[in-house]
Amino acid sequence: MVPISPIKSHLRRYLISETKRRLHQPALRATVMRAYETRCAVCSLGHSSLLDAAHIVPDSDEAGVASVRNGLAMCKIHHAAFDVHILGISPDLVVEIRQDLLEEIDGPMLEHGLKERHGQKLMVIPALRSERPDPELLALSYKKFQSAG
Ligand SMILES: [Zn+2]
Repeated sequence: MVPISPIKSHLRRYLISETKRRLHQPALRATVMRAYETRCAVCSLGHSSLLDAAHIVPDSDEAGVASVRNGLAMCKIHHAAFDVHILGISPDLVVEIRQDLLEEIDGPMLEHGLKERHGQKLMVIPALRSERPDPELLALSYKKFQSAG
């Protein structure tokens, strides 16, 4: 038997995970929305059209599995802030805002939407323990947040 080349096996792994990702995306959103009762984990906003099922670790990353435990329901602004590491979530579910933003003075979105969430626990977490964010995945993301500051 001829061994499969590392490139081929890498490509095959990529294709399989890409296919899984595509298949699981809509289902994941539904699961995350149900688990968080269609509310933003950070601010509790409850309008489905303004909410995303965010990945804790991006699905481009090997650890970024399509699982509710790698998901968070977040409003558009908190999702974007999380993805660019303006907003971090520690493994014990406390929200942190990047230092330079905390020192900035601006309108209500910055004041209430971001700065006032600093040091607060997530407002919404799934009732089922088995659906809560995986602390190890949060730790991976939190490390990136800390090094981005
Ligand atoms: Zn929010």
